[in-house]
Amino acid sequence: MRITFHGVRGSTPCHGPDTAKYGGNTACVSVEVDGEEPILCDLGTGFRYFGRSWWERHGSTFCGTALVTHLHWDHIMGLPFFSPLISANSHLTVYGPRQEDGSFEDAVRRVVQPPTFPVTLDEFPGSVTLLDIGDESMMVGDVRVLSRFVPHIGPTLGFRIEHAGRSVAYVSDHQQPVDGSFSVPPSVRELAEGVDLLIHDAQYTTPEFAHKAHWGHSTQEYAVALAASCGVGRLAMFHHDPERTDAELDCVASCAGSTLEVFAAREGLVLEL
Ligand SMILES: [Zn+2]
Ligand SMILES: [Zn+2]
Repeated sequence: MRITFHGVRGSTPCHGPDTAKYGGNTACVSVEVDGEEPILCDLGTGFRYFGRSWWERHGSTFCGTALVTHLHWDHIMGLPFFSPLISANSHLTVYGPRQEDGSFEDAVRRVVQPPTFPVTLDEFPGSVTLLDIGDESMMVGDVRVLSRFVPHIGPTLGFRIEHAGRSVAYVSDHQQPVDGSFSVPPSVRELAEGVDLLIHDAQYTTPEFAHKAHWGHSTQEYAVALAASCGVGRLAMFHHDPERTDAELDCVASCAGSTLEVFAAREGLVLEL
């Protein structure tokens, strides 16, 4: 199982010398298993670069699946910029959380159409199928996918992906208990328990959380405590705040104060599980 980070930033893309090392694209991680179609976790601006690398490696035709945690911009903005959709033979199946007032499909289609985008999804030569999910266990080819609703703002999923005894959990946006405590919701524990790699929200420092406790995210300290509590192999801190500099992220692992293997996810990083 090969994990590649194409976008690691939360909230909004950012650029400049202070963020060049870890990258400024928003959430997108690919999970590739030999002999299986690729699975993408989230379609932030990093998805555009996944599309470019796919084109270079395999040509313009793409068939695969995306698992979208939720509809905030930083998780879907790359969808209409995915260049393989220019090919009529490309097909992308996208699973996302059913909404309180309608379907995931309707919500995505409302964004990818005039006036917020020049054309509708139906006008791309390639096809996109949008499907609602909630708490599910399903197979994508030979890969098992577990989805669970997790605390954030609006309906939001986390995912656990397993194949041949290897596992990764992807919990990009997760509201830590607002009182700052380290308790772990049962749904998140189910996703993360014992995985080889946990990719988890680590947007805030503890002082920042004091001012933004209700903004839907976790502290780096909470991510470490949660990973330790769930017995994960490695923790990738993810969904970095757009204000977080490379120098600050360099210090994340050494400052984590944990026996766990902890690192800050960065664009271009490839992990073999
Ligand atoms: Zn986000
Ligand atoms: Zn969000």
